Formats: sequence, C-alpha cells, structure tokens
Amino acid sequence: MKACRVCKAIVRGKKEGKEPLKCWNCGSTDLTKHFSGIIIILSEDSLIAKKLDLKPGEWAVEIND
Ligand SMILES: [Zn+2]
Repeated sequence: MKACRVCKAIVRGKKEGKEPLKCWNCGSTDLTKHFSGIIIILSEDSLIAKKLDLKPGEWAVEIND
C-alpha cells in the first residue's frame, strides 16, 4: 500500500503482495510508502469529506517524504 505524492490518495496493489504502479485518482506514478495515516471517506455527504474536499476513498493524512 502506498500514497500518491500528488493528490494523497491511498493506492493498493490489485493483487495481494503486488505493489501498485499508479494512482487511481490522478494517474501519477509518484507514490510513496512513507505516510502518517489514512482518512477513509465513505460518503460524499460526510462533513469531513466536504471540509477536506475529498471524494469517497482512502487518503493519506500526511506524506512524510
Ligand atoms: Zn494521485
């Protein structure tokens, strides 16, 4: 599991044990393993999603490198 440095989306490999190659959200290949936590958005209507302006999905709290 990695995080996108461009948009902070959490990117998972399609197969177990395989590293992801690119971001599902913005298509960037600039991914990092170094992030500090995950925000999970289930609904676009959630207050956090609106406040942070995020789509449903998993997002890194902070990129550390
Ligand atoms: Zn991205």
